[in-house]
Amino acid sequence: MAYARLRYSGLGATPVATDAPEPGRPQPPIYPLEIGAHGGYLEVRATPADGSCGVHGYPCQHPGVDVAGVAGTPVVAPESGAVVMAGDGAAAPFVGYGPWFAVIQGDSGKFHLLGHLEPATAGMAAVGQAVTAGQQVGVTSSANHTHWEVRDKAVPDFANGETNFSNNTDPIGWLALALGAGTLLLVGGAALFLWLLSRRAR
Ligand SMILES: [Zn+2]
Repeated sequence: MAYARLRYSGLGATPVATDAPEPGRPQPPIYPLEIGAHGGYLEVRATPADGSCGVHGYPCQHPGVDVAGVAGTPVVAPESGAVVMAGDGAAAPFVGYGPWFAVIQGDSGKFHLLGHLEPATAGMAAVGQAVTAGQQVGVTSSANHTHWEVRDKAVPDFANGETNFSNNTDPIGWLALALGAGTLLLVGGAALFLWLLSRRAR
């Protein structure tokens, strides 16, 4: 099976603290968020189990994060938007993302690719369907994780030299930014207040 090469040990999963999910608010595709031992963003994969590194476009660096979840775990939309693509990962440029994947275009403009879903289940979102952040779009397969990418485009312009890496953002960084907008405003406000205080003190 093509997806087996994207191995997930299930051992040493790293929990990542995020806000508890609320419908309509950006959130990880599985909560609580745990990253597999070999599933971090840009993690180097020098020794794939089947030696396929670099073959058929399979990257030696990981272009997303593997979010742990045993087979059958609901996978949800990380942000509100619409399902724009779905498929079995059997053909380029989605080889390796099966047995089923979905791409959601979020309201932020980013594209969320969720791979290794189980196609033979209920709860699978259809292409064209509008989704709210937190709404189920599929379930995990026997890969025991979903592979989550945050892309600028649904498909990079490979013909013009773009790659998954020139096109992708660290999903954890994206989530932190999406959840932290209020915090950033607060910090910015505090900085302005301190600057005004320092002006008065002169
Ligand atoms: Zn992965």
